[in-house]
Amino acid sequence: MQRCDVLGSISEEPDRLTRPFASDSMRRANERVASWMREAGMDVRTDNIGNLRGRYEGAPGGPATLLLGSHLDSVRNAGKYDGPLGVLVAIAAVQALRDRDVELPFAIEVVGFADEEGLRYGTTYLGSKALVGAFEAGDLDRTDATEMTMAEAVKAFGGDPHRIAEDRWSGGGLLGYCEVHIEQGPVLEARGLPLAVVSAIAGQSRFQLTFTGEAAHAGTTPMDHRKDALVAASVFVQAVEKFAESHERLVATVGQLTVQPGAANVVPGEVRLSLDVRHADDAERIRAVQRLLDIAGEIAKDRSIALTTTRISENASVQCSPRLTSLLAQGAQDAGHPAIQLASGAGHDAVVMAGLTDIAMLFVRCKGGISHNPAESVTEADVAVAIDVLSRFLELLAAGR
Ligand SMILES: [Zn+2]
Repeated sequence: MQRCDVLGSISEEPDRLTRPFASDSMRRANERVASWMREAGMDVRTDNIGNLRGRYEGAPGGPATLLLGSHLDSVRNAGKYDGPLGVLVAIAAVQALRDRDVELPFAIEVVGFADEEGLRYGTTYLGSKALVGAFEAGDLDRTDATEMTMAEAVKAFGGDPHRIAEDRWSGGGLLGYCEVHIEQGPVLEARGLPLAVVSAIAGQSRFQLTFTGEAAHAGTTPMDHRKDALVAASVFVQAVEKFAESHERLVATVGQLTVQPGAANVVPGEVRLSLDVRHADDAERIRAVQRLLDIAGEIAKDRSIALTTTRISENASVQCSPRLTSLLAQGAQDAGHPAIQLASGAGHDAVVMAGLTDIAMLFVRCKGGISHNPAESVTEADVAVAIDVLSRFLELLAAGR
């Protein structure tokens, strides 16, 4: 908890926590985490993209490696736990084994990922993408708010932008990747439980819808002569809520809405809005998206309004490894806590890591389900349970369960 406080004070801004990719604050955070990794017996290096990688050797002859970790960058005005908690719990679990002289038949590499939130360059998962070999070199030309390219930022941070491909995992066989993270939702608090094992990370569809009616004079156009795009859009927004409420585990959101021409005395002629749909089951999500687009079409037709829809992005869900997940659940049970299974609605480095190896995740209860906010809060007792469970998970894995 003290370490979370220390990292929480390492920021690019004086009065709030903002730690972007490859920034000076990121360097200071990495230095602190590196010292804690060394204390726990790890060899530490920073790769070209800026991931901090601490390696803890296992028994000689055990060639496989288990990856643990999370991200050390943050959003603007962040909380202290989203990301760093997963790195620090991993270090503490390794330390706990070392303190008890437990020798593992495999090595552990704890990774503090350089960028998960995408604050500086608007593109997420830079760190984990480099580790799995999915980094796109074209991203190096992106510029930040000060017009500095990503290539320049990587160089200033100490990496070689032309050698990011070498960050790709090359250390031999992998047993998997396990990430501890705050829940970022209210379920655990409501159930009175400290943690959950993650079953899957939800897939996500994002669309843009444009309702086009007819801009007209707000004073002279009678109500029965209007083609009001905003009224149509608002009926749709309500339909989205109703639809998602009546489908279990589905979440759907309209988060952006622009109204044209956007004047008090003009009937709205055009409304553009975003639609974000998520579900742990891809087939359910795709069915839901189709139905919601149909509903939008029906609303538009009823009101003689034109509708266009554009797919912005589509990401499949990622299933966690049943074997690793059951070991985590066993670890929780051994620690005296029932482990419910939860699907993650948010994306995590684990999504990218699934392209390299089996993944598992452990969620820790957070106060009010709040994240991406300075009010983010976890209890010391819950964090202690998470460290216990992760240590126990390592021992179970070592025992070949
Ligand atoms: Zn996070």
